[in-house]
Amino acid sequence: MRTSTSPAPHRVVIVGGGAGGLELAAQLGRRFGPQAITLVDARPMHIWKPSLHEAAAGTLDIQQEGLTYLVLAQLNRFSFVLGGLTSVDREARKITVSAVVSPDGEEVVPERVIAYDTLVMAVGSTSNFFGTQGAEAHAVTLDTVEQAERFRLLMLKAMYQLNERRDRDEQAKLNLVIVGAGATGVELAVELYEAGHVVSAYGLRNFKPSRDMVITIIEGGPRILGALPEKISEAAYNRLSQVGVRVETNCRVAEVRPGSVLTGDGREFPADLCMWAAGIKGQPVLDALDLPQNRIGQLEVDARLHTSDPHILALGDCASAPWRDGRSVPARAQAAHQQADYLGKLLGARIRGQAEPQTGYVYEDHGSLVSLGQDAGVGSLMGKLTGRGLFVSGTLARLMYMSLHLMHHKAILGIGRTATLALARLLMKRTQSRVKLH
Ligand SMILES: Cc1cc2nc3c(=O)[nH]c(=O)nc-3n(C[C@H](O)[C@H](O)[C@H](O)COP(=O)(O)OP(=O)(O)OC[C@H]3O[C@@H](n4cnc5c(N)ncnc54)[C@H](O)[C@@H]3O)c2cc1C
Repeated sequence: MRTSTSPAPHRVVIVGGGAGGLELAAQLGRRFGPQAITLVDARPMHIWKPSLHEAAAGTLDIQQEGLTYLVLAQLNRFSFVLGGLTSVDREARKITVSAVVSPDGEEVVPERVIAYDTLVMAVGSTSNFFGTQGAEAHAVTLDTVEQAERFRLLMLKAMYQLNERRDRDEQAKLNLVIVGAGATGVELAVELYEAGHVVSAYGLRNFKPSRDMVITIIEGGPRILGALPEKISEAAYNRLSQVGVRVETNCRVAEVRPGSVLTGDGREFPADLCMWAAGIKGQPVLDALDLPQNRIGQLEVDARLHTSDPHILALGDCASAPWRDGRSVPARAQAAHQQADYLGKLLGARIRGQAEPQTGYVYEDHGSLVSLGQDAGVGSLMGKLTGRGLFVSGTLARLMYMSLHLMHHKAILGIGRTATLALARLLMKRTQSRVKLH
């Protein structure tokens, strides 16, 4: 490691500009500049992953939501490299980033090799199918913008096709199965129901969600939102029942087929579309590091977010950091944000050649909020003094849910730009449809 007297800066390369990686790049870039800090991402635009269920339902236009990394790099003074990580040479401390290829298959920028002194892995996670037969082939997931957009188009197509099917069968319905009743599955179900109403207002006049759409959530555990307090589960369950979403708990999916979902207890649920939201695992690219992983393929890190290679750190969904009772820090935007803060301080000291903090990162659970449509939410906020959760619901919970996104914007855009962007989006809503129809 270089000291502060070295002529060249200590080079920090962060791979993955999501909830955690981008905040870290912005924080360090503002202090040390583009010579020292490089962010690599496989996509040109930054998307806040917790918005993907809204993109899938069409209630949020992801093209307008995305922030261009090149602009963020210029604002926050880090270098940006577009391309996916493909390999890591730990001995030479170099990574290889894939070529950038146009939609026609033409190479725009060739493959590049980037040297690092410290590499931070922040590539997030991907869906875990747990080896379920047919799931990868026939279910849609919500890991990326492309998948959210694919789901939105398939949903629109299914809505239009229903009109035609109705000519042959008056009772025909659009059947949607969501596997997994965590926050993603629950939030998506309500959002789809609301989007269905809006679509019927704009063009598909014959489409009535309560009559024409059957949404079933299948959950292996005994209750929905199993990781959250029971009171939150109950409130969310009531909202789902109110909008007509069916919930099957203690029910495991055995197979996903082209038109249906089979459960372990022998039932078959018709499914024009199946959304898989049952769990996560580490990205396959992590294998390129040849470092210890946990059973779901996340990189094992210690409390200081170090892998067993002192030059490679990891944060967010791709890392398994110790928490309490033998559990690891949950894969949440809240954790990625806190870890970015922690690594900002640690790497700040490293770049300056000062003593690095020896105390580990401790995850602070500030509570959980679940969106239940555009105007409602439910959740709990952890009281600092009591250590107990304060139950919140309705519009207040929804506003608090949105504040997590605003805090992320504040970290990467600053207060002034965050306020301007929020106001601009509010004004834009007045002239745009409430769902993306094209
Ligand atoms: C629908 C949905 C709702 C959610 N709601 C909430 C919520 O309400 N609250 C909450 O706390 N959490 C929520 N989460 C979880 C939260 O989104 C994640 O925990 C969080 O985004 C993890 O942050 P991260 O920085 O680790 O990864 P991500 O935010 O996933 O970012 C990973 C980045 O790495 C890039 N990348 C991936 N592979 C490569 C590669 N090979 N090379 C280069 N770049 C690469 C990606 O393009 C991406 O930009 C939700 C998730 C989903 C899907």
